[in-house]
This record gives sequence, structure tokens and C-alpha cells, in this order.
Amino acid sequence: MMYLISGANVYSPDALGKQDVLIAGGKIIAIENELTLTSQHVEVIDGQGMMLLPGLVDSLVHITGGGGEGGFHTRTPQMQLTEATLAGVTTVIGALGTDATTRSLPDLIAKARALDTEGITAYCYTGSYQLPARTVTGSITDDIVLIDKMIGIGEVAIADHRGSQPSAAELARVAADARVGGMLSGKSGVVCIHTGEAEEHLSLLHDVIDQYPVSSKQFYPTHLNRNQALLDAGIQWTQQGGVIDMTTSTNKEFIAKGEIPAAQAIAYCLQQGVDPRRLTMSSDGNASLPVFAADGSLCGLEVGRVQSLFDSLVELVTDHKVALPEALATVTRNPAVVTGLNHKGQIRVGNDADLILCSSEQLHATHVMGKGRWLVRDGQAVVKGTFE
Ligand code: ZN
Repeated sequence: MMYLISGANVYSPDALGKQDVLIAGGKIIAIENELTLTSQHVEVIDGQGMMLLPGLVDSLVHITGGGGEGGFHTRTPQMQLTEATLAGVTTVIGALGTDATTRSLPDLIAKARALDTEGITAYCYTGSYQLPARTVTGSITDDIVLIDKMIGIGEVAIADHRGSQPSAAELARVAADARVGGMLSGKSGVVCIHTGEAEEHLSLLHDVIDQYPVSSKQFYPTHLNRNQALLDAGIQWTQQGGVIDMTTSTNKEFIAKGEIPAAQAIAYCLQQGVDPRRLTMSSDGNASLPVFAADGSLCGLEVGRVQSLFDSLVELVTDHKVALPEALATVTRNPAVVTGLNHKGQIRVGNDADLILCSSEQLHATHVMGKGRWLVRDGQAVVKGTFE
């Protein structure tokens, strides 16, 4: 089946105005002012009064579940297909976290392939918080070169008590291995960095790029909105050519402890003059979010939600008055560029037909298409995960 979405206001994320968009074979094959096509094989969707946006690219989701830091019963569940699709997310990058003992990379790859079959696109990172890195083949380079789903390594933890406290030399080696893997396979070979609470902030990344022939572009640090001091360190990192990522999943306790909501952090960075292309948001979906009682004891656990990515996009536009193209780029084109997914995150000819159609009045993922197939229509999931 081919689809012609006619007359919608298209944001690529750049504002392209009213366009007709033709979809066939899972790809966007034409974007034109007026496209007429009549065939029984073409379904025409009237996009008048609607906005057409790229499907969101979520660069960090614990697709097989995460957590576990409070014992086995605190391992979080895996992500279901509709948690992504109902939130307009059509590409996810999966990662392990603290736990690479009861969680495994083969499981992560299998889940990524399952999500692909179910309707969205999923990739993953090799490794986990700790170094030396867990891998499938015994080598970071080989994993990235030989395993189609592996596009880089992460989350490697720095400034965190759960990480391996790597030296600059160790981290430089990881970056070099990932870079060669990326070069040989035409992937990004990016190193996704989990940044913890410790006051060293991003100093280790600065040590690596100062002491070794490793580019700041190789690293993709996340959780920079954890507190104001870390966010300011992140702004400094962007001045070295780096990109920084904000985490949208949060809860009251995190905010009370000084976390800055992701949308507010992005707005702050823009006010500080940060190049908008160096800013992204990701959900950290299915991570565990601990809840503490007044006396500081752990009294509950919440689970990070992929939906928070779309919610933060809305917040960025409605509460912080960031223009839609700039706001949208932080969850579409920018993360796609950093992770080397050139066929994702933009409405342009030749790209995968990953689209969100929503009303012009209200930013809401009303209709969602993944790889040319409708996954959500009129706000309802028309495709569900195998066990949903
Ligand atoms: Zn993390």
C-alpha cells in the first residue's frame, strides 16, 4: 500500500510549509507542493489543518528493562511496543545499565530485533556501565562491525559509584575501539556516557580529548540535567564541540534533589547561547527511578517512561516558547545525527517513513507511522506488541 498525506504543515524538523508527502515501500519517496496520484493502491490521507512531524528518535531506552540496584525484585520490566508508538517514538536505541550480569547483550539484540518486527526500528549499544566492556564477540570493535544492531557502546558510567571508575587511558581505548568499529561498518561508533552525581562531572571526558587523539564528537554524555553544576559543565562540553543529552524521565524526588526538568534544561542552554544542534533529549525509558521516604530510606521504585520524551517536547514548545523546529530537532534530527542514523529523524526523500500526524492546535501523537505502516490511528494503537 502507498500513502499520500496531503496538505499537512510539514516540519522536517525545519518548517517546510504545506506539502504533500508520498510514502511507498516504507520510505518517503516524494515531498511536493501538489502531488496528484490516483490509484487503488494509494490511500490518500487528508492532512489539512494537521502537522506532519518526523517520528521521534529516543537515543536511550532500557528496552529489556534496567534497574536492579535494590535487589532482584527491583529489576524493571522491558518496554512494550505501544509504550513507544503511542508516544510518537519510532526509533529507539537500547542499552544495558548497571546490571550486565542478569541482563545480557544477546537479550538486548533479540529485543531490538523483536521491536523491528513489531513495527518500530531499534538499535543498541554494546557494553554496559562497567569497563572492561561486556561484549558479544570479545571485542568492542568486532561487535560494532559484525552485529547489525550494534551502533556504538554505552552507557559507560563516569562520575558514578556504580561505574568502574575508569582512567582517561581506559576510556580513550574504548573510544578508539568504538571509532574503528564505526569506521569499518559505516556506523557512528559513538560512546554513550552515563554521567553520575559525583562532582568530577565531565572532567574525565576533557582529560581524554586533551591527552589523546580522540574527538569530543565521539562521546555522547547523558543525564546532564541531573543538577545545575553538571548542566553548566555540559555547556562547557558543547563549547569543545560536544553534544549533550537531557533525560526526560523524572519524579518529584529527583526534582526536589535539584534535577532540572529536561525541557527547562534545554531552554536554559539555548538562553546561554548553546548551538541548538548540540542539544538532545532522551527518555531513559524503563530505567528505575528510586523513591525515598522523608528519613532517606528507599520506599518505592518508579519506572522511567518513554512517553516523557513527547511530553518534554510539548513542554519545550508550550511552556518555554521554543520554536517547534528547534524543539523538535532535539528529539529527531539531532539524536539521529549523533548516532549516525541518517535515514531517521527527518522528513526527507529517501528516509524511512517514520511520521507523526497531529492537529495544528494540539501537539499530540494522534497518528503514528513506522516504516510506512500505521501503528497508531486516532490516538489508538492499531498495531500492538506480540504479548500486549
Ligand atoms: Zn544512565
